[in-house]
Amino acid sequence: MPEAINSELIQGATDFHGHWCPGLAIGIRAAEWALQEMGRSGDEDIVAVVETDMCGVDAIQYLTGCTFGKGNLIHKDYGKNAFTFYRRSDGKAARIVARPGIFGEGHEALGRLHRKMQTDGLTEKEEADWKQIRAMASKRVMEARLADLFEVKEPSGPPPKQARILSSLPCDSCGEAVMESRTRRIHEQTLCLPCFEEMEKRY
Ligand SMILES: [Zn+2]
Ligand SMILES: [Zn+2]
Repeated sequence: MPEAINSELIQGATDFHGHWCPGLAIGIRAAEWALQEMGRSGDEDIVAVVETDMCGVDAIQYLTGCTFGKGNLIHKDYGKNAFTFYRRSDGKAARIVARPGIFGEGHEALGRLHRKMQTDGLTEKEEADWKQIRAMASKRVMEARLADLFEVKEPSGPPPKQARILSSLPCDSCGEAVMESRTRRIHEQTLCLPCFEEMEKRY
């Protein structure tokens, strides 16, 4: 079991996510890396940029204190188990990327069963196999050394800008209040993004 993360925290992350799964295990280990190297985010000192919106991100939010609501968790939709952490106080930063073979031997079988699940469904035997392989993959992720799970790389860019509290303006079309930075000006009107997109379609 990871040193920085005790069984109570693992249970907390599992409850927060809703189930135990290999993806959550990856997030737990990535969070462990972040806690060791960067510390826990009090207010906004640590920023995480996550390149997936899958299971693991819930562990990052629960364990590191980087959350969507605080604005220090940023999602880039690249579909990779890659996590960049920035510490604003001293500029320390790193991007950690899950190694391709992170689930060990069961990797291929998991992929095959997953595809079959979505097309023809699984037989009882296959379902049992699927559960067992997932349990093995999670166990492997939890027990491996961090260096065997993740490659540590340079971040691909500077830290994201600090979240600012901006005033809201009413949208001239739907009337809903919208954060100023998300408004668009067109034909002398201030619009929210959905109304702007509607307007664009018409012209
Ligand atoms: Zn999950
Ligand atoms: Zn609108």
